[in-house]
Amino acid sequence: MKYISTRGHAVPQAFCDILLGGLAPDGGLYLPESYPQVSAAELAEWRELPYPALALKILQKFVDDIPACDLKTLADRTYTAQTYKHCRPGRDANDITPLTQLAPGFHLLELSNGPTLAFKDMAMQLLGNLFEYVLARRGETINILGATSGDTGSAAEYAMRGKKGVRVFMLSPHGLMSPFQRAQMYSLQDANIVNIAIKGMFDDCQDIVKAAFNDPAFKARYKLGAVNSINWARIVAQVVYYFKGYFAATNGMKNANDRQIAFCVPSGNFGNICAGHIARMMGLPIARLVLATNENDVLDEFFRTGVYRPRGTADTYVTSSPSMDISKASNFERFIFDLVGRDPAVVRELWTGVDAGGSFDLRGTPYMEKLSGFGFVSGKSTHADRLATIRDVWKKQQLMIDTHTADAVKVAREHMLAGVPMVVLETAQPVKFAETIQAALGRAPGRPQELEGIEDLPQRVIVMDADAEGVKALVAQTC
Ligand SMILES: *Cc1c(COP(=O)(O)O)cnc(C)c1O
Repeated sequence: MKYISTRGHAVPQAFCDILLGGLAPDGGLYLPESYPQVSAAELAEWRELPYPALALKILQKFVDDIPACDLKTLADRTYTAQTYKHCRPGRDANDITPLTQLAPGFHLLELSNGPTLAFKDMAMQLLGNLFEYVLARRGETINILGATSGDTGSAAEYAMRGKKGVRVFMLSPHGLMSPFQRAQMYSLQDANIVNIAIKGMFDDCQDIVKAAFNDPAFKARYKLGAVNSINWARIVAQVVYYFKGYFAATNGMKNANDRQIAFCVPSGNFGNICAGHIARMMGLPIARLVLATNENDVLDEFFRTGVYRPRGTADTYVTSSPSMDISKASNFERFIFDLVGRDPAVVRELWTGVDAGGSFDLRGTPYMEKLSGFGFVSGKSTHADRLATIRDVWKKQQLMIDTHTADAVKVAREHMLAGVPMVVLETAQPVKFAETIQAALGRAPGRPQELEGIEDLPQRVIVMDADAEGVKALVAQTC
């Protein structure tokens, strides 16, 4: 299996070669040359597999430059009940992603049981183990430099802590994350994790990271690497839970193996739902992919109208589902590549405008008709909807859901298909967004016992000015 760029870069790459990089050299995103197919016989065979074994089956379809026995070790090491122990009471941690019924034919796939209580652990934990394996095999090291406003940074740090050959420099805005988020990251005592609090905003952190990556000599000398959401291995890891969700939601149904299913995904950078699109392209019988946004509705607008109109920072709202507060969706180019018949010339043309701060409009083009063939529908949810949905699910189920998941539950209810089970992907636990839960329910969300009092642990963080040269000097000093 070789990988190509959405913008047509000529030399197809192997999985391990694109693992450590980010964008393709031409600025595009990597995708497999063609989507591996899953037969009906395989689907029937995989139904009963435990999560790590299912993950192995799917990884093997995409990775041919890691021996199967090593891949098995990596999958087994990644998806353990020990790592995904933060599940709700009464669930089986061996399930990794337990499925809970909210109403007949309406389910929640709980993806947030990992160390940082967000679904990003599902992919990041695999990435950590893959990095360590590939670096050791090549005798190389990597310095991951990233910026975070919360979820991504902590998921990356918990995945990379203690990994040989990997060091993480994570920039976060000083004083702007919640005390819980700060404690999650800054209390890590591992020598290979370096937390840097920048006196500025998230955008300042991101600018510093960009400046370092834009210095080719610095990037090469300190072997800078990224783990942002465009990383292909992160997408692949997420394909697995669509299969798991399909099996879990159709288990026990009459003709389970002939069933169709629908998923609803709270979306920001289009990484999670892109994995759903890929699962569908592989042959998983997904009737519908429902994309949910918050007030930042750039993706909802596209799927309703055919107009993709990324916003500027000034037009990006700060909402109570903050992990979806995006102005442009960094993985969206992968879907458009498929939509335009995998023609990189068309993608290049569309993104010439987008990269220059513009938009594109597919109305009146042949692609508009094709769009309906990909199973996407969409909807949006506001702060008021979020609170109402959190209350409603609590009242009916005594189940607390987080703000992002609430956006998806709201939109999923508007897009049900008769006879087709709907699976909503839970992307975080409510404790991460405790203030809004408190506002909705008048009570605080519970916290996994192991995380009680983490705010009181000693913290390791270096506070610095928003100055790229200062941060680069720190990286150089540490390495
Ligand atoms: C990252 C994140 C999302 C958005 O996922 P994408 O893959 O960027 O679409 C949604 N909810 C939570 C809690 C997240 O952390």
